[in-house]
Amino acid sequence: MKINSPLQAYEYLPKTNCGDCGEPTCMAFASHLIDRSMKAEECPPLLGEEYNDNYNTLADLLAPEIREVVIGTGDHAITIGGDDVLYRHKLTFFNKTAFAYDVWDTMSEEELVKRVNDIQNYKKFYIGEFLTLDAVAIRCTSGDADQFAQTTAKVMETTELPLLLCSLDPEVLGAGLAVAADRKPLIYAATTENWRDVAELALTHNVPVALSAPNDPDALKSLALTFASAGITDLVLDPGTFPTDGLRDSFENFLKIRRAGIDGQTDIAYPLMAVPMTVWERSDGISAAYWESVLASIFTVRYGDIMIMHSIEPYSLLPELHIRDTVYTDPRKPVMVDAGVFEVGSPDRKSPVFITANFALTYYTVESDLASNDIDCYLGVVDTDGIGVEAAVAGGQLNAAKIKDMFDSAGFDVQEKTDHGAVILPGLAARLQGDVEDETGLTVMIGPPDSGQIPRWMESKWES
Ligand code: SF4
Repeated sequence: MKINSPLQAYEYLPKTNCGDCGEPTCMAFASHLIDRSMKAEECPPLLGEEYNDNYNTLADLLAPEIREVVIGTGDHAITIGGDDVLYRHKLTFFNKTAFAYDVWDTMSEEELVKRVNDIQNYKKFYIGEFLTLDAVAIRCTSGDADQFAQTTAKVMETTELPLLLCSLDPEVLGAGLAVAADRKPLIYAATTENWRDVAELALTHNVPVALSAPNDPDALKSLALTFASAGITDLVLDPGTFPTDGLRDSFENFLKIRRAGIDGQTDIAYPLMAVPMTVWERSDGISAAYWESVLASIFTVRYGDIMIMHSIEPYSLLPELHIRDTVYTDPRKPVMVDAGVFEVGSPDRKSPVFITANFALTYYTVESDLASNDIDCYLGVVDTDGIGVEAAVAGGQLNAAKIKDMFDSAGFDVQEKTDHGAVILPGLAARLQGDVEDETGLTVMIGPPDSGQIPRWMESKWES
């Protein structure tokens, strides 16, 4: 049985409201346990001997249906798995899909270092955060254990990103682990042929291991049971990723395994791996990169917890990263920024004062349109509960009183700070013009409905 309400979690807490966890009451802490924003070990009294049984029981009852597996160490470690639901809207998906990009041991040293740097340095700013890549998958294409070990050492020298050591040959995996075991890499993969040797390696080096049984969920389950009975439970399951003609089977296997895991079949409740780069065996160039992105998108939405991919071209990375960011955004929390008055560029007394909503996508779009067009200005951001301008006007989250409150709370007196005493409402909030004039006593101008049109609007409407 799992617990899913704060009241149930509260029963296991000390109920002293001591505040050592940083929360005012045990009930408040219990709410954070349920939404997973805090962990049981953050209640210090619970870790004492007196509450040992409570702590252990609570940890069990709060454990996610799908086991969490950590790959790597330190700040760069990634956690995969950990989901409790099949559908994101029922709670949220935890631990975004980890994207690993391949290098191989027949690359020249120069090519290898460049590609690893390209992987670790890639970042794209999107709605207030940088989207980045997570791991390096080292493939053995030489068949030579020493060469694989040398490549692994070079990759470790170049990056601290988590590693996947990829070969079906236990000798090659062993050579990689001889240099990389301390970094807790994921070894890929144990199969129905090599499982004894790979299990031995996983036990010896205490590293997570991927199990592979292409298009054979029963064999995958059998492997998982065998490894678990040997005490190896940091497992990742690879049911096979077949592009185009085998895609339906692949998709159904992912659904079947994840549904079983969420429904309580603990023997198969592990993170899933998709390998979109299998498409490169069938085609190359833009076509392969395209289909790789298609597969990555499909398995990001449906239960891939980690993926191995090849194309690091922007036309592949951008859609893959954006869909991941969208799927792993918590639907319970609007994506929003703080309200207030912000400077864009170096505004002075003649600079315009724009108003917008605090929906993060709106804010960053407006801010970026202003900054990239070198428009020095003030940007007043109203707390609309993270709702965009048009919907916030319709729902009442953006109104004249809130606009006045925003300026008051920020201590920003438009009359004092500017010569013009005017604010500019978004075109989509034009109907608030009269109310805002009455509420604030300011001159209210109506800007364009789309912030991309602000430069042209400035040319015709704003006298600097
Ligand atoms: S530290 Fe523990 S006992 Fe103290 S208030 Fe927080 S949850 Fe309650």
